[in-house]
Amino acid sequence: MNNKNSEEIVLNGISGSPGICIGRAYLVGKEGVDVVGKYYIPKSNLENEVMRFKNAVHNAKEELKNAMDSLSEDLQEHVYILETHMVLHEDKMLYDKTIEMIEASQVNAEWALKSTIRNIGEMFDNISDPYLKSRSADITQVGERIMRNLVGEEEVDFSDIDKRVILVANDLSPADTSRIQLEKIKGFVTNRGGKASHTSIIARSLEIPSVLGLESVTDTVKNDDIMIVDGTIGQIIIRPTKETIAEYKIRRQRYKEYKAYLVRSSNLPAKTLDGYEFHLMANIELAEEVVSVKDNGGDGIGLFRTEFLYMNMRAFPKEEVLFEQYKSIVELMAPRPVTIRTLDINGDKVLSYSKAPDEVNPALGLRAIRFCLKRKNIFKTQLRAILRAAMHGPVKLMFPMISGLGEMIEVTDFLNEVKAELREEGTPFNDKIEVGIMIEVPAAVIIADSLADYVDFFSIGTNDLIQYTLAIDRENRHVAHLYNPLHPAVLKMLKKVSDVGKRKNIQVCMCGEMANEPSNMPILIGLGIDELSMNPQAIPAMKNAIRLLDYKRASEFVDRILKEKTADRIQEMIDEEYGNILSQIIYKENFRRDT
Ligand code: PEP
Ligand code: MG
Repeated sequence: MNNKNSEEIVLNGISGSPGICIGRAYLVGKEGVDVVGKYYIPKSNLENEVMRFKNAVHNAKEELKNAMDSLSEDLQEHVYILETHMVLHEDKMLYDKTIEMIEASQVNAEWALKSTIRNIGEMFDNISDPYLKSRSADITQVGERIMRNLVGEEEVDFSDIDKRVILVANDLSPADTSRIQLEKIKGFVTNRGGKASHTSIIARSLEIPSVLGLESVTDTVKNDDIMIVDGTIGQIIIRPTKETIAEYKIRRQRYKEYKAYLVRSSNLPAKTLDGYEFHLMANIELAEEVVSVKDNGGDGIGLFRTEFLYMNMRAFPKEEVLFEQYKSIVELMAPRPVTIRTLDINGDKVLSYSKAPDEVNPALGLRAIRFCLKRKNIFKTQLRAILRAAMHGPVKLMFPMISGLGEMIEVTDFLNEVKAELREEGTPFNDKIEVGIMIEVPAAVIIADSLADYVDFFSIGTNDLIQYTLAIDRENRHVAHLYNPLHPAVLKMLKKVSDVGKRKNIQVCMCGEMANEPSNMPILIGLGIDELSMNPQAIPAMKNAIRLLDYKRASEFVDRILKEKTADRIQEMIDEEYGNILSQIIYKENFRRDT
């Protein structure tokens, strides 16, 4: 922390999304149940306090009723869970005990509710019966819903913001981030968040500067403080001096000019000096991003993360809703291809209306294809929508998190069943849709040869592949410094997948964040990756990088680096061999202020 200028505070975090913004801070709290305070209620106000609790229960029940009403067909079979929750709102242990505590101890409703939930939890902790244990979890969830109604909003509410601000939060979930309105928010900074978190991926898509992993920024910044966010280097300056603001206005202008320079050439083909042409595709999470894909010269969509639509709904979407959305994206992009990835839910992307399994390690849990194979109705709805949308333009279908051949066969059989059903009904669909899988689990790399027999393409998801190979939680700021795509183990895995693709004659793409970084380009080209997919905003710089490189020289270079033993040495070699060349397109003012 730098206090040289009496007021100015410089904090370093992780670059979430590049760009510079200057503005006023707007703190959003999401502490919920954990930070409930205790205060005394005079006797004369007890009746009101009890009424406040009863109102919160009433509102919580209304919320639940709405969720039940909008439950999709797929979920109807689970309506009983919500019905049980409905009854639990007035369960004696929860409802009566909370009121008793408000009255007997003369405390606020939040505190009474929190204590009651804790007491119930402790009571059930000593019981081994699994049914009763799950009942305890239900009561806790109901209690939390009531609590949210007592303390305020469930989610970050952007609707109160009336001027363009910089959001300062402990954490923003991917769902929060995907609801950000650009006309209100210039940038954001958070205490939590790691290098390849979905929150930062969305921030990059929205092109708003952000810095994550600042640890305690919410304690340091006050509402309305002026602050500078330099997302390019992952640094923020709180209460900057006039001189600093003037300096950053110039930097902000230069960054804009740099971006404009790159975008001007974004529609030229990405051809290496020796004539190899690459297709640069875009990753999108939301339909609105299609415009940005086109503006930035994307040759198609290499990864459509479909779960974000699900996250913005109140119940699992119906087939028609999905079909219409996919169709409109496909039509907007045609004749350029769109790769639609099936639902990659759980892990860090949880749906508010679908109870996530109680897992110690969600990243290793029932996520993505594992979830879909358990909930086949939900999976079927999505597959039908994709197969039907594929009648309206070139669509590829992609499955995430495949980790074994058995799983691959089960997915293939299920896809065939869904196709057969559509055929029998006479519903038009594309029977010849290309099918691929994400390679993002080390096991899939090792058995890539057998998996290749079932698919038309591989797409390497380096975000997860690095996470699982190096055992580094991609969301965890404490180990963010170890998250390195240049780790020799990662590079050897990439080489193996690329070699299998060549041998089996299937296309190998990459859609992880590694494909966003111009300095990685010599390696990606040299490894023989056929196609790259990235944030739309990264496309112009990556196209420019390709135009500066020579394919054969990059292949020889990769042969050399694959013999090296450390990521540091590999980075040094990239700097020595390509530093000068790439400095033509890498943002120059990439330096941090003193801290
Ligand atoms: C990946 O893991 O690299 C990937 C592209 O998928 P996601 O970031 O959505 O997990
Ligand atoms: Mg992934």
